[in-house]
Amino acid sequence: MLNVKLGSLVNDFPDLEKVMTLQEILWVNGKFNVQAGINHADESINQIAIDDAAGRLQRFAPFIANAFPETALSKGIIESEIMVINEMKSVLKSRYDVAIEGKLLLKCDNALPISGSIKARGGIYEVLKHAEKLALEAGLLSIEEPYELFASEKVRAFFSKYSIAVGSTGNLGLSIGIMSAKLGFQVTVHMSADAKEWKKALLREKGVSVVEYETDYSLAVEKGREQAESDPMCYFIDDENSKDLFLGYAVAASRLKSQLNAMNIIVDAEHPLFVYLPCGVGGGPGGVAYGLKSEFGEHVYSFFAEPTNAPCMMIGMMTGLHDGIAVEDLGIEQKTEADGLAVGRASGFVGRIMEPLLAGCYTITDDEMLTLLRELKVREDIFLEPSALAGMKGPVILEKEGQAFLAKQGLNMKMASATHIVWATGGNMVPDELQEQYLNGKY
Ligand SMILES: *Cc1c(COP(=O)(O)O)cnc(C)c1O
Repeated sequence: MLNVKLGSLVNDFPDLEKVMTLQEILWVNGKFNVQAGINHADESINQIAIDDAAGRLQRFAPFIANAFPETALSKGIIESEIMVINEMKSVLKSRYDVAIEGKLLLKCDNALPISGSIKARGGIYEVLKHAEKLALEAGLLSIEEPYELFASEKVRAFFSKYSIAVGSTGNLGLSIGIMSAKLGFQVTVHMSADAKEWKKALLREKGVSVVEYETDYSLAVEKGREQAESDPMCYFIDDENSKDLFLGYAVAASRLKSQLNAMNIIVDAEHPLFVYLPCGVGGGPGGVAYGLKSEFGEHVYSFFAEPTNAPCMMIGMMTGLHDGIAVEDLGIEQKTEADGLAVGRASGFVGRIMEPLLAGCYTITDDEMLTLLRELKVREDIFLEPSALAGMKGPVILEKEGQAFLAKQGLNMKMASATHIVWATGGNMVPDELQEQYLNGKY
């Protein structure tokens, strides 16, 4: 429950009026400090911790390459391509009648191996970290030994005594369920009402216990937490507060930097980088944005994108209340086709870290996401799930609503040399029939 009176909150933050009437808005973060470094936020989150996460993923790569043949080509590194989407750029320009200068790129986490969404970064990382800790403590292997050993019967039998629990709107459950089951853990996914049937069915096929709730994501998380508290052998992956998830996502940034280098794309004072990240509870976009800040410093501007029906991070950051406010406090029903973003209360941990680092948040309606979904499929032959289209309107919104922001940052004369990256957060696992339904407007 909200401790503050709604009337006085709307007085202090007049933009809330628009949020409550479900209008699309851009909120520019008044606390954003382009010079802010990454090291003040949280003691245990820093570049050393990101490097440690990257090293752990590297150690596990031989195991992953064996266990998931689709990663053999990348030698067990779970990474996605980045591509130029010029056709889509033309669509955005003509549809919204704006000039979009600079390059427009799509970061294709929709095609990440194993679970087809951005959760293949954080979710899988946290499971691996937990598995490594248990195995090392039990003396099953040492850090120097080949991690292919994680596929051995001995290790699997050992993990079968342990369980993992998580609450999810769908995609986090998929990535954690698939990796945990592969390692031999017992795993329970507590799914909110927004979760799609096919995600539950797929997990059950893999031997994962799926518990369904008629209510929203926060309760699903709560149930997972309770399960773990009553069982000392159970490890709970806490989407609302997990530093490991955050770090797993953050590893994306240094890899992105290498990809941009390989494409001869410069990021510096004359070539600003704008990144548009769909946001649910905040861990995925927060981790990526944090990593990007570490890699690109004052030359990167990250924006979070949320559905008009679930703008939890925007209201938390705007009011400074973070997880002290939920969309239901504003009378917002949180009904959205963007299931990956169907979250009513943002992570306070992430919101606080992002305070000086995030340029802003904007909202987008379901209709717009679904229109952009069809356009991207038709023009570029790329299918994304609805959530993943939230970022696509970013360059348009920045151009239309962000002129004061660009002027303040001294960027308006630099837009022709800017790079815009739309982070495509999911899509490849969506079954064909459902893809057809989205494309035909029947879902
Ligand atoms: C989970 C998810 C997000 C957002 O990540 P959070 O960590 O919940 O903020 C965005 N898009 C898709 C497709 C997702 O599954």
